[in-house]
Amino acid sequence: MDNLSNTFVHAFPPAQPASGPAFWLVFSKDGLFLHTADGLGVLHQGDLSSVEALCLRAPLCLGTLGGLPCLAADFDPELDVPEGWSVRGLRSLYGELPEAEYTLAGYAMQMLYWRRTSGFCPVCGHRTEPRDGDWGRLCPECGHIAYPHVTPATLILVSDGPRLLLAHKPGWGNRYSILAGFVESGESLEECVQREAMEETGLALTDLAYAGSQPWPYPHQLMIGFTARYAGGDIKVDGIELDHADWFTVDSLPELPSPVSLSRKMIDEWIASQSITSPAE
Ligand SMILES: [Zn+2]
Repeated sequence: MDNLSNTFVHAFPPAQPASGPAFWLVFSKDGLFLHTADGLGVLHQGDLSSVEALCLRAPLCLGTLGGLPCLAADFDPELDVPEGWSVRGLRSLYGELPEAEYTLAGYAMQMLYWRRTSGFCPVCGHRTEPRDGDWGRLCPECGHIAYPHVTPATLILVSDGPRLLLAHKPGWGNRYSILAGFVESGESLEECVQREAMEETGLALTDLAYAGSQPWPYPHQLMIGFTARYAGGDIKVDGIELDHADWFTVDSLPELPSPVSLSRKMIDEWIASQSITSPAE
């Protein structure tokens, strides 16, 4: 499964799968179905008909994996969990599953969430229908079209020479991370970065640079990473969003986020850049 990200092809536009062998991602209200026989696995291989009987509605075809349809489905809550399977919240599997599998399961969860929450028109209340050619939902009564939501949020790695800014939220235990915040309506990503840093820590930033992105399916966020340099101000946290923030060096880092997170990748890149720029080590 290591090459999952290389072999999964998104279905754009979505298509109805042919009957026959397929990969299945099955979710219940409480989480994702796992087979636990030999290690953790989230992808079940089987005929459409064999899994369809367990599901509430027709599966969604997300794309293909190694040429086979990759299907997402809601488990019928009236049924018992079949033998050999267990159910766990996707969030609790963060860091335990290979990254590509986690990403695919997140995509599946996001699209099932979209179908579950888009059945009625938000304008007139009429029942909506799927649209041909994309994931939108059309209201046949008033013509309103809605598309799956993507909510952008920024991640902000702030450095000042050999110092890295890390922050702590209430309830995080010993873990620290870089800054994060949702983009507001009418705001550019750059404005969001500056506003969040000022609101959460009282710091002004300069030299913003894009550093990557990562879908985050809780329920439909897209994390967009930026690096920035400290430009002024004294650290002052609000005590609600953040209860502590401070400067750290590579020799004094606290507990960090899971390696599969974009925030951790950005931190690791900063650490690597420090060893390059500090030949005296
Ligand atoms: Zn309508």
